[in-house]
Amino acid sequence: MAHQIKNAAVIGSGVMGSGIAAHLANIGIPVMLLDIVPELSAEEKAKGLNPEDRKVRNRLAEGALKGMLKQKPAPLASKENLALITPGNLEDDLDKLKDVDWIIEVIVENLDIKKALYEKIDHVRKEHAIVSSNTSGISIEAMAEGRSEGFKKHFLGTHFFNPPRYLKLLEVIPTKETSKEVLDFMIRFGEDKLGKGVVVAKDTPNFIGNRIGTYGLLVTLREMMNRGYSVGEVDSVTGTLIGRPKSATFRTLDVVGLDTFVHVARNVFDKTEGEEKEVFRTPDFLLKMVENGWLGAKSKQGFYLKEGKEISEIDPETLEYSPQKKLKAPSVEMAKQQKGTSGKLKTLVYADDRAGELLWNILAPTLIYSAEKVGEIADDIVSIDNGMKWGFGWNQGPFEVWDAIGVKKSVERMKEEGRDIPAFVNSLLDAGGESFYKEEDGQELYFDGEGYKPVPVNEKEINLKKWKERNGVIMKNSGASLIDLGDGIALLEFHSKGNSLGPDVIQMLDKSLDEVEKNYKGLVIANQGKNFSVGANLGMILLEAQDDNIFELEFMIRMFQDTMMKIRYSRKPVVVAPHGMTVGGGAEMTLPAAHIQASMETYMGLVETGVGLIPGGGGNVSLYRKTLEGMPNGIEPDYVDVAAKVFETIAMAKVSMSGEEARENNFLGLCDSVSVNPDHQIYDAKQAALALSEAGYKPPAKRTVRVSGEPGYAAMLIGAEGMHLSGFISDHDLKIAKKLAYVLAGGKVPYGTEVDEQYMLNLEREAFLSLVAEPKSQQRMQHMLVKGKPLRN
Ligand code: NAD
Repeated sequence: MAHQIKNAAVIGSGVMGSGIAAHLANIGIPVMLLDIVPELSAEEKAKGLNPEDRKVRNRLAEGALKGMLKQKPAPLASKENLALITPGNLEDDLDKLKDVDWIIEVIVENLDIKKALYEKIDHVRKEHAIVSSNTSGISIEAMAEGRSEGFKKHFLGTHFFNPPRYLKLLEVIPTKETSKEVLDFMIRFGEDKLGKGVVVAKDTPNFIGNRIGTYGLLVTLREMMNRGYSVGEVDSVTGTLIGRPKSATFRTLDVVGLDTFVHVARNVFDKTEGEEKEVFRTPDFLLKMVENGWLGAKSKQGFYLKEGKEISEIDPETLEYSPQKKLKAPSVEMAKQQKGTSGKLKTLVYADDRAGELLWNILAPTLIYSAEKVGEIADDIVSIDNGMKWGFGWNQGPFEVWDAIGVKKSVERMKEEGRDIPAFVNSLLDAGGESFYKEEDGQELYFDGEGYKPVPVNEKEINLKKWKERNGVIMKNSGASLIDLGDGIALLEFHSKGNSLGPDVIQMLDKSLDEVEKNYKGLVIANQGKNFSVGANLGMILLEAQDDNIFELEFMIRMFQDTMMKIRYSRKPVVVAPHGMTVGGGAEMTLPAAHIQASMETYMGLVETGVGLIPGGGGNVSLYRKTLEGMPNGIEPDYVDVAAKVFETIAMAKVSMSGEEARENNFLGLCDSVSVNPDHQIYDAKQAALALSEAGYKPPAKRTVRVSGEPGYAAMLIGAEGMHLSGFISDHDLKIAKKLAYVLAGGKVPYGTEVDEQYMLNLEREAFLSLVAEPKSQQRMQHMLVKGKPLRN
């Protein structure tokens, strides 16, 4: 039977249960959130409630719902998604599980308690319902013991990482009895619907990510203690320098929580033997820290302690804090000069100084351990590498790191040091292989213990870097490249710093639109940088402004506006696919698209007021138009209300914290879409462009818009002046607000006047140019460029 998940139930509303329920709601799945019935609290008793009241009985799950609205980072992509989650309890609502397609158990990490719950579920679940556990390390098989055959076939592990909305990894763990159909379905569902990077793990302690990750962390702790490095020193070389998250080793542990880490490590300690067991033994000082309640971020003290602006680090010997240190070594300076993680790693691990020794002594055992575990925790190295990249935010998995530092050279050194080389690695070298991965005829291959096999390719995952390496580009300049995506669709990728938009990017966009009109069916504008775009190139604008080059600026702004309108009126469909920060000019480039294919994680806003400006690339007109288009059909909108809404969004530089929220703020319209899986976004955008083309795409006609005129201007102004009077905004804020209100009202015209787009663009340009010349605006720009945050002046 073909499986389908139309609804779900999450059991356990703690840290992970509430996060998983929120994520299901984010993808539009109605979900029941159940927890145990708590005892009547003194507070409830005082309120006259009794143990039979639903409010009391649902308290845990209801509390979790309230928590979802406060938590940071937000588990919900939109507050409205909360309506999809129904709280309940395991006594009154157990029976309702009979109608649920997927039941996810996320309760305390205790085999007996979990087994007792599964027994109850076994009796109520419908024939084809899938049941899964989010356990971090309990054997999936042991949990299924004693259950019916039907249950066992539909039972597996689905291990999310915290926080479930943001962490990419989903480990899927079948037992011998899980049906292949259920496993295959869950892999597809995990990727396509949940938007995760799915890795199939074997049913062994802590699965993949937490097995290798915990090993690596413990080896690092030991190396620090044995060789007298400090916490800060270790972090200064185990973070971004080697392609790992900024939080490096110890800040990561502070975020995870030291109690959780000790728990996870103990699980492997309890279940393994010999040398391996010893590595997973928790160091005494760590236990002492947990005993003291120094658990990291949640108790405001852990490896680090922050007091005011001062950050201090713990000394594991004395458990006293002293100012944070950094490891200074020649190899660190040399590595910083290298481009890319591979070059940096190679420079560091073979260096004969304190940084080099530390990294070698951490990496060598971790690489060896990973190789020993191939076949035991996962079928292949690809799964292990993906697990570490997606679960721990490493740029490169252990086998990619090994390739980067050279397998042969590193193994020689390992042998000299008396380290045992795993059979898996010896078989690679015996077969004459030089790396775990290689490319042949445009195909990526991995070593599987005997020979090389193709790395599975998913057509929905388009990697632009690899795509360009294989297919080249149609044309490029310093800021952007035009790429042939196949099937008649071209893609424009920016690659300027922060993907900021300067004249080079705009020129490339302009040329690309011409090229697409001639030779392609449609254009996708997207990139795979950290952010889609941080906006216009502010440095350039400031430079021209300080030199009083108003003529140059006017030319630039006119070109920017014209090119944005060229996107809108292109005869071929233009699909823009924003992700991450999409602010200022980045948002202005998105708004005119025929279709927006946003990532679920899109943080979009017109934030120009923060630098003393207003949008200058058509953003005011585009957002006004999109807001009008979002109004119900057949009813004459109140133009004052529409203008006021847009005014609020721009004046307050509101940034939507997800694709869904961007829709609520009218950056996205009803027909625009959101991709949950970021790896599928470019594919989704390409499909959208193709579909528009197939449907006989025609650009919108150049229409006029109605504006709110003088009454709109007055209404916007009253609001801004009120805020000014009560001291919320400065004189300069008020000045900017007035200019913005004037543009959005359509100038001094009567209510409801029909104006054309170019008229509004002219108002926008005039306002922009007058603000750019203001000294206080220039101060704001300068401050943003130097300090990276807005100045309130
Ligand atoms: P938690 O303590 O926040 O939540 C546990 C939940 O279990 C609570 O809602 C609690 O009310 C419920 N519960 C307690 N006793 C119960 C019982 N007898 N019957 C039914 N429910 C009961 O824990 P968590 O961190 O959300 O972990 C839940 C599961 O997810 C565990 O299996 C854990 O190993 C796993 N996990 C945790 C993380 C993490 O980072 N915290 C990550 C991945 C997996």
